[in-house]
Amino acid sequence: MTQTESLLEKGLKTADLTEDELVFLLTCADGEAVFRAADAVRKRGVGDEIHLRGLIEFSNICQNNCLYCGIRRGNPNVERFCLSPEEIVESARNAKALGYGTVVMQSGESGVPAVDDLCGVLRRVKALDVAITLSIGEKSFEEYRAYKRAGADRYLLRIETTDKALYAALDPQMNWERRKQCLDDLKTLGYEVGSGCLVGLPNQSVESIARDILFLKRIGVDMAGIGPFIPHPDTPLKDCKATGFELSLRTMALTRILLPDINIPATTAMETLSPNGRVKALQSGANVVMLNVAQGGHRAAYALYPNKAGVNDVAAIARKNIERTIESIGRKVGAGYGSRKKA
Ligand code: SAH
Repeated sequence: MTQTESLLEKGLKTADLTEDELVFLLTCADGEAVFRAADAVRKRGVGDEIHLRGLIEFSNICQNNCLYCGIRRGNPNVERFCLSPEEIVESARNAKALGYGTVVMQSGESGVPAVDDLCGVLRRVKALDVAITLSIGEKSFEEYRAYKRAGADRYLLRIETTDKALYAALDPQMNWERRKQCLDDLKTLGYEVGSGCLVGLPNQSVESIARDILFLKRIGVDMAGIGPFIPHPDTPLKDCKATGFELSLRTMALTRILLPDINIPATTAMETLSPNGRVKALQSGANVVMLNVAQGGHRAAYALYPNKAGVNDVAAIARKNIERTIESIGRKVGAGYGSRKKA
């Protein structure tokens, strides 16, 4: 048995690998073996259902200045927008009509809409009988509590990287400990919590990526979003190369092996870097797809990175296409809310 095979066997049996073992599997020659193992764990842990989420990117207004992100405060070339409450609710209504059991609401980080206004939107969306996932950045405990009470069920907040020096370099004004505190607060409040990381950042070591995976396991995430870094031409990292596709797939696959029963999306960034990236991810551990359902004509302005897959897709057509894709790979569209079911 090769070392790759024996480590994967250990992973399959115990859902436990050390940092050194993860580094080995992140870099070994036989990536396909890692993907196959993750696919087997996925089948055992969450079955063949693929849960679809309707994504509403409702505002690109952001007070943060993350060096990698296209909607950072310091990018003057972004036309800033925030959908009206009516537009958000209408997008959610359309998602519900298309069959989505979950609506994901994501935005840059800012004070708009005001807390009370967003709570009003959440109550109206909740009345449609869908699960709600929020992804709107770092907020106070009280604000997270208000959104929970208004109907939010889940929250996505990627830690981005567990390398604190790298984190600080990528946004000198942000604070890693503060972000970690937010994840703790969300858990305390009873949210289903998602986190994850970017892969392929400049000066990011494979060892730190192994520690990112162990971090997700340690804090006990319910969802893990992992994607490649894609340089945006209007950011300080514009001259970097998008090298993270393969490594982000491996990171995702190993996260699946350590966390067999969580929800893991095939990320849009993967689909953006490779024409078949989404399917490859679904066959390497992922069990969730998030598709854009936003109305209001501002999707292209929500450019975290360039050439984002699916920005111009008509929601109804995209839904039909993904249903066909899911069938073609022998899987089925998930029913209901698609919450994490703990094994
Ligand atoms: N503002 C919110 C959510 C929006 S950003 C927050 O901070 O959580 C959503 C995710 O997009 C980020 O967590 C980051 O991991 C990813 N992202 C940002 N810029 C990117 C880029 N250039 N390439 C790939 N992913 C990127």
